[in-house]
Amino acid sequence: MSDARQVDLVVVGLGPGGEALANAAATAGLSVVAVDKRLVGGECPYFGCVPTKMMVRAADALAEVRRAAELSGEVTVRSSWAPVAERVSVQATDHWDDRVAVERLQNAGAAVLHGAARLDGVRRVVVTPTDGSEPLTYEASRGVVLNPGTRPATPPVEGLDGTPYWTNRDAVQVTELPGSLVVLGGGPIGCELAQVFARFGVRVTVVQHGDRLLAVNEPEASALLAEVFAHEGIRVLTGVDLTRASYADGQFRLSTSSSEELVADKLLVAAGRTPNLDDLRLETVGLDPTARTIEVDDRMRAGEGLWVIGDVTGKGAFTHVSMYQSAIARRDILGEDGPAAAYHALPHVTFTDPEVAGVGMSEAGARQAGLTVRTGTTKLEESSRGFTHGPGARGLIKLVEDADRGVLVGATVVGPAGGEILGYLSVAVHAAVPVDSLRSMIFAYPTFHRAIESALSDLSGRAA
Ligand SMILES: Cc1cc2nc3c(=O)[nH]c(=O)nc-3n(C[C@H](O)[C@H](O)[C@H](O)COP(=O)(O)OP(=O)(O)OC[C@H]3O[C@@H](n4cnc5c(N)ncnc54)[C@H](O)[C@@H]3O)c2cc1C
Repeated sequence: MSDARQVDLVVVGLGPGGEALANAAATAGLSVVAVDKRLVGGECPYFGCVPTKMMVRAADALAEVRRAAELSGEVTVRSSWAPVAERVSVQATDHWDDRVAVERLQNAGAAVLHGAARLDGVRRVVVTPTDGSEPLTYEASRGVVLNPGTRPATPPVEGLDGTPYWTNRDAVQVTELPGSLVVLGGGPIGCELAQVFARFGVRVTVVQHGDRLLAVNEPEASALLAEVFAHEGIRVLTGVDLTRASYADGQFRLSTSSSEELVADKLLVAAGRTPNLDDLRLETVGLDPTARTIEVDDRMRAGEGLWVIGDVTGKGAFTHVSMYQSAIARRDILGEDGPAAAYHALPHVTFTDPEVAGVGMSEAGARQAGLTVRTGTTKLEESSRGFTHGPGARGLIKLVEDADRGVLVGATVVGPAGGEILGYLSVAVHAAVPVDSLRSMIFAYPTFHRAIESALSDLSGRAA
């Protein structure tokens, strides 16, 4: 007889989705072993969404106070990083301690292990506990859920490995601000953190390999953000790679493909993510251990007794995707009915100021998919709300219509609370609400979302 411990379910990796699934399965009465080699909750609460959004909030407050000069008279502000560091370390992360999350899972009835887990064949998992105790083998009658997430990628820059560069995990633990910072990567993480630090007085240069910031968004959104960054004194180098890095006497020296040498106190590397798939022994269940993503069906199944959720499914590296997939996998595991996974209305928000939010397809994506496309755009600052708002109102709305079906298949909102305005358009894309029906609605005056009406009117051109 096997000496493996018999349980119903093992959850490997406790990102937001894995933690929620382990909790729900244990609450439903399954015997659940929940394993994480770092912190229960994953990247989002300790190093990702939550601390960075606290940092963004602080930086936005500063920007708003500075705008007050134009609106309400002279205001003086002396910024300090101390309250930001305090909020992040105490309120967001409990000093990067997961006790509360562990207890929450234990109270639900799950056994929680800190350790590195790997597969050992179908429905079998071996855990090497972090405390150095003997490895434990589990056999899970229902199966195994993988939610291993990603870690910061290290780009192949000569000399980089030997330097004390930051990743997002260091940036959220900063207590003293540097004088200058180079941010490698102009994606969502790089852009959010670049603006945060710049608004606190750090001299920031963003080095972006591609030809624009936020490359997955509409080009109009990237262009607008680039203008805002330039206005705020953030230098953006596009089409440029770092070729060499060295660190001495408290300074980074960075060679670039454009032959310019950059010197900065700190370097933040935000140049992509590496999936945590390399140590899972995926080959023991017939999956490719070198793959960057694991293919799942619309119930999150990746094999016999195996469900996979989160960033490593390649459906969108967002907490809301991890949670959405978690609920689908949970229903499948517990034998409950419910809708299968669909991603046609996947929303994403970059919390710069202005926020850059999108849902569904971009114009280019819709054309590539062979749709008959009609687009409509409007500028937020030209709306009534933008006019009354004044400084800080820059933004745009862009709609992408499948003209054959007369429904929106994608939308972008750049602007103050762009992510909130996007909610309306997410419903429209999700439920394929006819454009004629959207046009017939009453939009409250003078809200930012009322500008959607202008973008809808602009859809009237010829489709191509
Ligand atoms: C700076 C930053 C800002 C972000 N901001 C946002 C945002 O505003 N909104 C948003 O939606 N998303 C945001 N994200 C993305 C978000 O953090 C992730 O999409 C989210 O955490 C979901 O990831 P996940 O569920 O795949 O797993 P993760 O959160 O990555 O967690 C995976 C867990 O698995 C564990 N693990 C891995 N391998 C093993 C193993 N072999 N054994 C045991 N445990 C293992 C890891 O230790 C980790 O705790 C941000 C990310 C970053 C880095």
